[in-house]
Amino acid sequence: MSVKILEWIENNQKKFIQISDRIWNYAELGLFEKKSSRLLADTLNEAGFTIELGVADMPTAFIASYGTESPIIAILGEYDALPGLSQDTTPIKKPLEERAPGHGCGHNLFGTACLAACLAVKKAIESGEVHGTIRYYGTPAEENADGKGWMINAGVFDDVDISLTWHPWDVNFVIATNFQAMYNVVFRFRGQTAHAAGDPFNGRSALDAVELMNVGSNYLREHIIPDARIHYVITNGGQAPNIVPDEAEVWYYVRAPSLNEVKSLYPRVLKVAEGASLMTETEFESILLGGSANLLPNQTLEDLLHEKMEVVGPPQFTEEEYEFACELRKSFPENYFDNYLAGLPQDARPFFERFREKEFCDTISPIFGRGTTLGGSTDVGDVSWVTPLAQFATVCGTIGTPGHSWQQVAQAGMSIGHKGMITAAKILGLAVIELLQNPGLVEKAQKEFEEKIKTTPFESPLPEGAKPPIEYYKSLYKQ
Ligand SMILES: [Zn+2]
Repeated sequence: MSVKILEWIENNQKKFIQISDRIWNYAELGLFEKKSSRLLADTLNEAGFTIELGVADMPTAFIASYGTESPIIAILGEYDALPGLSQDTTPIKKPLEERAPGHGCGHNLFGTACLAACLAVKKAIESGEVHGTIRYYGTPAEENADGKGWMINAGVFDDVDISLTWHPWDVNFVIATNFQAMYNVVFRFRGQTAHAAGDPFNGRSALDAVELMNVGSNYLREHIIPDARIHYVITNGGQAPNIVPDEAEVWYYVRAPSLNEVKSLYPRVLKVAEGASLMTETEFESILLGGSANLLPNQTLEDLLHEKMEVVGPPQFTEEEYEFACELRKSFPENYFDNYLAGLPQDARPFFERFREKEFCDTISPIFGRGTTLGGSTDVGDVSWVTPLAQFATVCGTIGTPGHSWQQVAQAGMSIGHKGMITAAKILGLAVIELLQNPGLVEKAQKEFEEKIKTTPFESPLPEGAKPPIEYYKSLYKQ
């Protein structure tokens, strides 16, 4: 069985590479992944999956399902790009189109590997060799609007037994670490316009409020827990220097290792906003665009994924791919490897030291990082509170590739990324087959999950009754 799955994915890899490359070229931003979601949904539909499009008030969210029996296994696919990262498949910086979006997190590979795994599992169900239901969850807007959280609130995960997913990375490992919980929020200040030189005394600057809020937040940093993160960009700073801006806006991410910590930190950021508005005699509103929970690990599923990673093995790279990596690495800072190690869980660093002089991680890493938190957030965290979930990563780039970078875009569009993607599809496929063959394993994972949520049930970070912020992003992205 497992041999057949591996062979099937291998034999069909050309088709998956084409799909991945098309999504890489579309490079659509979160909530607007129209062509990407359509391509994935159509491919699943043609293969016999039933499709539900436009789930949870998001036109680019979909669910594709095959099978009628239990258990129901979900594979979570992402396909959104990042703004401003357009890049050719070259080892030197060369945007395809200045300031256009690019797949700087490799979600073209992400969504396509999940598709390949679902199609392979479907073959096994169809032949009667295994029993169960396989579902592709087309989860949009991971980068900007936490698509999965909105889908959870719409109840579409209610009957799912297990969820699995993966992410492109520069190492092969089970991701056993936590991720930060997060609030994604915009502060919009409103003041009074005036001629900036003629009668500035009649103006009340909304931009002053934004700047003072940022100053206040930067002072706040010293008095928050060390693992929390606050960062922002100014999305509206006014129109011209000679007009006192009557409207200005700043966009914040507030993160901490647990949702409770975010919930206790956020009111302090709100106080800073209030202070800024008081000082400048402006008014403000806060608009919560999204949020994600920290990740609840499931060791049963982590062990399963690790075992399947060992079976499939790491992706192997050719001489040309090593050369490409070597060239690309010239754009990394000189001390990048020390900085890179600093971003890893403490217990992983000795293992990674061996890659200091190498282009690629060429082994399956042991499971490490349990009980630690990596910087960054994902809405996969939310799903881990409503179904047992685990995830892994495969090498889709040279060691030390910065996250959300042009270097990642370049590799996600060529054979280095493709190899990691095909490897990931095989691992996912094997893991699902094992779950379908072994009901005891499903039960064990569910029992572990239920034990964990007994004491701390899931609380959505998203505001009650709110809808996905499509209108906000439409104006921000000028879609
Ligand atoms: Zn990502």
